[in-house]
Amino acid sequence: MSKLLALEAIYNFYEQFVKGFSTVCEKGCHTCCTTNVTVTSLETNYLLQSGNMDKQLLAKLEEEQQKDHFVPSTTINTTAAMCLAQKAIPEETSPITFEPCPLLDEQGLCTVYEHRPFSCRAMSSQTLCPQGGQADMPPFLVTINLAIYQILEHIDSEGWYGNLLDMIPLGLAERGKVPDLVAAAGGRIKTNRQLPCFVVPPDDTIRFKSFMRRLAKEKWADHTLAELLPEKYSILS
Ligand code: SF4
Repeated sequence: MSKLLALEAIYNFYEQFVKGFSTVCEKGCHTCCTTNVTVTSLETNYLLQSGNMDKQLLAKLEEEQQKDHFVPSTTINTTAAMCLAQKAIPEETSPITFEPCPLLDEQGLCTVYEHRPFSCRAMSSQTLCPQGGQADMPPFLVTINLAIYQILEHIDSEGWYGNLLDMIPLGLAERGKVPDLVAAAGGRIKTNRQLPCFVVPPDDTIRFKSFMRRLAKEKWADHTLAELLPEKYSILS
């Protein structure tokens, strides 16, 4: 439960932070709501708190899960660790598809909006996105998004990461059955890992430190978010 509160604190902090960036995204716009969304297990558990996963949604989800869909080759923190070790990063080999996310309703609205994962919160654009095209995001926002992905994986480092389509069944399973489901997923689900380093372009360093200092002071339950990050990050001091 407590980590869900920390996750909520990060989501709330981020929501205030992105208000400082212009965006053309508005209610009903769902070009980025595809079956390419990736999540950690902690975020999946938070999404399931919405209580909206009824039989109809689960059937839609299962139908999409049976189709070819994007499977991340590795986690964000594993990629960061490879960069740090100057190792080659594995290329994404699975298909990027543009099927609509099964959690969209008939009006094009998200059925779990208040509980949506960070991948969805992080998506915004300064100009209208073409279908299948990329969002137009300020570079500093890309830097911050990457750092938040890394922090979310770190605080869920005993958990898992994968496509939302594969992660929801995991979140719905009894805890004791999760390792068997992960094994049965045949590599589609990855193991999270701790934060090895942040990946910050030199030009963003000062602004990034300022952002992190503010984030670190955010409260969840009787704690601050700084307590969840490795002490070695002098970036927080
Ligand atoms: S979870 Fe909601 S916001 Fe995210 S892609 Fe699906 S419909 Fe869109």
